[in-house]
Order: sequence, then C-alpha cells, then structure tokens
Amino acid sequence: PGSLYVVATPIGNLMDITQRAIDVLKQVDVIACEDTRHTGRLLQHFNITNRTISVHDHNERQRQQQISEWLNSGQSVALVSDAGTPLISDPGFHLVRHCRIENLNVIPVPGACAAIAALSVAGLATDRFTFEGFLPSKQGARVNTLTSLQDETRTMVFYDAPRRIIDTVQDIITCLGAERYVVIAREVTKTFETIHGDSAKNLLLWLQQDPNQEKGELVLMIEGKKALSEEIPPLARKTLALLLKEMK
Ligand code: SAM
Repeated sequence: PGSLYVVATPIGNLMDITQRAIDVLKQVDVIACEDTRHTGRLLQHFNITNRTISVHDHNERQRQQQISEWLNSGQSVALVSDAGTPLISDPGFHLVRHCRIENLNVIPVPGACAAIAALSVAGLATDRFTFEGFLPSKQGARVNTLTSLQDETRTMVFYDAPRRIIDTVQDIITCLGAERYVVIAREVTKTFETIHGDSAKNLLLWLQQDPNQEKGELVLMIEGKKALSEEIPPLARKTLALLLKEMK
C-alpha cells in the first residue's frame, strides 16, 4: 500500500518549508488540504501541480474512507493544514487514527509549529510544558479553564485570537494573579513578529497602549506556578535546612 505523509507547512515565512516537504508534496498522488485555495497558493509558489482535495472538520470521516482506498491501492497521499503541523489544533486526527487502525503507513514530515516556535524564544521553562490549544472564546468558559490551571507548575501554551488578548490577560490577572509572568508571541516568522513577556499586570498596560498588538496571530504562554520551595527566600531555606539537620 501507499503511505500517508503528514506534512508540516510554514506558519508565515514560506522559506520555513523543508526540502523534504517539497519533495514529498511533488511526489504524492494526492494532497489532502484543509483549504485547497489556501494551500494552492503555497503549492503555486513552489511549482507543485499535484491534485488537491479538501479534508476539513466537516468531511474528514467521509474522506478517510476514500483516502484509505487510495492508500490500499498503492497511491500515496500527503496531508497538510493551512499552516504549521497538521493535527496540532488542526484537522487530521480522525484520518490518522483510521489509517493507524487499518495498519497503513503514516509518515511524519516535520516542520514549523507555532507553539514550539513560540516556546523556543519565550525564555520560559521548557523541560516540562502543557499545550492547551485554543482558549475558549466565551469569558465564562475561559475563566473556568484558567481557574482549573491555577496550580499547574508546568509552562502553559495556548493559541488565542489577538482581538481577545486584552480580555484574556484580564482573566489571567483574575484567575492566576497580577504577578504571573506571561509571554506572547505574535506574528511569528512574519514581518511584525513580536515576542513580549512581563507580569500579567504590566503586559495588560503594554497591550492597552498599542492597538497593533490586537492584530494577526498569537501564541500565549503562562509561566507555571512556582513550587513552594522557590517561594521561600534563600536565607530562610538555608536556616530551615540547618534546623532539619539538628532535628535528626
Ligand atoms: N497547526 C498549526 C501549528 O502547527 O502551529 C496551528 C493551527 S491553529 C488553527 C492556528 C493558531 O496557531 C493561530 O490562531 C495562532 O494562535 C497560532 N499561530 C499560527 N501561526 C502563527 C504565527 N505565525 N504566529 C503566532 N501564532 C501563530
């Protein structure tokens, strides 16, 4: 049988496509796109003329039947989304799961991912982090999500709409406190790329002063809750250690 290639595409700067992605897209029989018009522009840029079909949240289950028939008949298929890595807050999960259950070959062609690119420049702990996907757009649900993450000690990564960012940061202040350190990465790899981090209260002021920050695309990252041991001042910690030793 043929293979399903899950191919990452750029998140802004077209130069971020990999050589392997171009080769695979040129070589497959069909390119399954989230939006054929959107991907058409990318393909045109790289002179790729292969057949495209659409696979999005609404037709994914029907398409998976057709795609597995193609794969079983020896044809190969590439799956791409509008930007970045498919399945990461993008369609493809049902298709990939179906192919794996059917024992079909699923091959990753890695590349750009907004969450990972943002995390790599945020200056937040990356040894452990949690990807939370899109924050809910309604305030009640957003507050619930943030409240449920109150005690999370890992770095938290979200996708959010810039037009909501001021409301979101206000909710962060309410749920996690004004001092919580937050980093936003906006328009990553694009002309107006901006990476900015500060306490939630200072970040709010900064955002309110610059309406441009409400445009484009962004990744929001929140520092995890500090472990209790970090909240104890160094001298107190040293004294505590001495006392504990004496108690033995
Ligand atoms: N699959 C994509 C990936 O690998 O990053 C993410 C798709 S998701 C539908 C789109 C969201 O990703 C945007 O709303 C934004 O939060 C984030 N995003 C995508 N491109 C970005 C960029 N260039 N700069 C900042 N955030 C971006």
